[in-house]
Amino acid sequence: MSRTALSTPDPNKADLKELLLFLGLQRTADNYPALLESAEKGNWSHLKFLEAVVSEEAAVKRERSIAARIAQARFPVVKTIDSFDFSFPSSVPRGKVLAALSLQFLERQEGFVFMGPPGTGKTHLALAIGYAACLRGVRTVYTNAVDMVNHLQAAAADHSLHDALKTYASPRLLICDEVGYLPFDQRGADLFFQVISARYERGSLIVTTNRPFKDWGKIFHDNTVASAIVDRIAHHSELIKVEGASYRVKDRRNRMNDGK
Ligand code: ADP
Ligand code: MG
Repeated sequence: MSRTALSTPDPNKADLKELLLFLGLQRTADNYPALLESAEKGNWSHLKFLEAVVSEEAAVKRERSIAARIAQARFPVVKTIDSFDFSFPSSVPRGKVLAALSLQFLERQEGFVFMGPPGTGKTHLALAIGYAACLRGVRTVYTNAVDMVNHLQAAAADHSLHDALKTYASPRLLICDEVGYLPFDQRGADLFFQVISARYERGSLIVTTNRPFKDWGKIFHDNTVASAIVDRIAHHSELIKVEGASYRVKDRRNRMNDGK
């Protein structure tokens, strides 16, 4: 009679490595001979040995969950605050940005609006805050405003709007980039409003925009929807105005000078 292998090992018969793998303790399964050797050489106590095993596994689990958060966030590119040069442009309010990076705003369901001309680092700063949130295990989603509305419009057409709205309503932090580069029609503006309204006082929102609030009537088709949106966003957001020249132009100029 042929026997098929059991997928669940019998704890009385299986060897240690098999059991560790069954429990998902991959790092220990790979490393325990070396760990035992260190323990013997260093004359570790039982407690120290157990702590070494558990802390290694906890570190692996943490790394994995951070990597998953970053993947789920769908950042177009990873940006961190370490690579942000606060001396360019000089008008970025450093104190406000550093306070945002402490992530306390998440506990109060508050957010930020980065407002300013193109190339001044708005997306970079929003992404850096999003990245910091992922490192702390916060469920974050990045989207471009136009992509979000297009997605919702397509979902409405195939009767999956409810699920699509959840994508933007449920994360603890939503980053909605580039509000204002392209205007929305009435339906698009309504869908945008639905996201803002579903998140209002329930989650945090970071918006970047190149246009002052007074111009949002032109983005959201009419002033009624625009003021309903601005009202909710502004109520629990801190405005961070970014001014100055475009970093893209500076980068390009430097590269051209390097090529002289
Ligand atoms: P915006 O969203 O305001 O149009 P971005 O954040 O996309 O601008 O910035 C454009 C490019 O310049 C990005 O590659 C960004 O990383 C970089 N950048 C902008 N400002 C700075 C800065 N102060 N320090 C370092 N890089 C910057
Ligand atoms: Mg941008």
